[in-house]
Amino acid sequence: MQCPFCGNRTTKVLETRHIDSSFVIKRKRTCPRCKKRFTTYERIEASPIVVIKRDGSREPFDREKLKRGIIEACSKRPVSLDEIEKIVADIEKDLQSYIMEISSKELGEMVLKRLKKLDKIAYIRFLSIYQNFDSIEDFIKVIKKMKRSKVGI
Ligand SMILES: [Zn+2]
Repeated sequence: MQCPFCGNRTTKVLETRHIDSSFVIKRKRTCPRCKKRFTTYERIEASPIVVIKRDGSREPFDREKLKRGIIEACSKRPVSLDEIEKIVADIEKDLQSYIMEISSKELGEMVLKRLKKLDKIAYIRFLSIYQNFDSIEDFIKVIKKMKRSKVGI
């Protein structure tokens, strides 16, 4: 942390305090060179997101795993890696508003919402990979419903 008064690169922390129960930390600092005091507010960005699976078990959010699932759904489809990367980055951004946990169902829906706009076949594939249809009938039902709504698959 640089001193805002003299630009000195090292400052000393006098006091560290959490702001209520938020992820914001308030620090009182002093500069050893100019002796001025100032306060900083730091936000903890990378709060670990936990994904709650359908069986109730929890696992840490794994960006690469999510990406692999989307790549699989998009295989041989006209969807570029850049577009897939954009989806993942976009979801990561959205995840910032979830404090700690998200269900795998919600996470799956975040992907589906984005794939639907991009590629209908990839959308259906991801739906089948991610939601683990209980039966093939469920899968067919979704496809029929999509055909009826004329999304053009
Ligand atoms: Zn200073």
